[in-house]
Amino acid sequence: MSILVVGSVALDSVQTPFGRVKEALGGTATYFSIAASLYAPVNLVAVVGTDFPQEHIDFLKERGVDLKGLQIVRGKTFRWSARYDYDLGAAETLDTQLNVFASFHPNLPDEYKGSDYVFLANIDPHLQLEVLEQVRNPGLVILDTMNYWINYKKEALTEAMTAVDIVMINEDEARQYANTFSLMRAVREILDLGPQAVVIKKGKYGACMFCDSANPISGCFFAPAYPLEKISDPTGAGDSFAGGLMGYLARERDISGEAIKRAIIHGSVVGSFAVEGFGVDRLRNLTLEEIEGRYQEFRHFTHFEPLEA
Ligand code: AMP
Repeated sequence: MSILVVGSVALDSVQTPFGRVKEALGGTATYFSIAASLYAPVNLVAVVGTDFPQEHIDFLKERGVDLKGLQIVRGKTFRWSARYDYDLGAAETLDTQLNVFASFHPNLPDEYKGSDYVFLANIDPHLQLEVLEQVRNPGLVILDTMNYWINYKKEALTEAMTAVDIVMINEDEARQYANTFSLMRAVREILDLGPQAVVIKKGKYGACMFCDSANPISGCFFAPAYPLEKISDPTGAGDSFAGGLMGYLARERDISGEAIKRAIIHGSVVGSFAVEGFGVDRLRNLTLEEIEGRYQEFRHFTHFEPLEA
């Protein structure tokens, strides 16, 4: 079952306390595609400039990512540079050069329009809405976003959130969206828009899902983050998480509540591998066997016995 992703393909320059990369392969759709392609075929819609290195195109093709939807436009590829401090929490964006991304409009090839699984990576919500206008009856649509769109395009973002099945958002951004200190109030406000579930990303503290706006606790699920000894670069953790989550659901052809819980663990596992290397390095040779090994460890460290009667 194939997956459609629309987002950014970028050249990232990133510094963390443990090293730096310059103009490395990055972008939300890139991280997502590399992760999801471990599970199911991925169709990518994005734009790059004529300066985009051929080796990156070859790598994505080798991973089985279909690039018919990748527009190559005269000009420079989107560039992002950022820095993380020792906390490795939020990235401090140093520079964003939209370049060819500034005039990007997603044009879905006809064969992508019937996609069952759609991931609207973090891009302008107007573009996310343009994708929704082109797809026919998708089985599952997940939307990701960021603070920038909450600040500047809240109306369009609200319209897009209303039209998808799952909203995936960082904890701080959920609270910012709802203008509240309470995560639970923010979750309720987003669920009231119509999505079936909200997945809250909490970075190094893991992720959780809420699916019942009348009683968010009754329909919630919490996954911790994998306890890592080595973290190199948190860039792309959220998109890799989304790739593992949606990849698993597409492979299993199951979007029941229980499947989504297993998918959140898959996402957490893939995200944990992604941050071990710089850029997409650790994802390049990641195997399903390694993912399944860490999945079993998650089962072990989240299991506990009921209270004795
Ligand atoms: P994440 O660490 O999962 O939040 O995503 C990091 C990726 O987002 C990087 O690879 C960047 O190239 C990409 N990115 C950063 N800013 C933007 C933006 N404004 N629009 C689209 N992609 C972006």
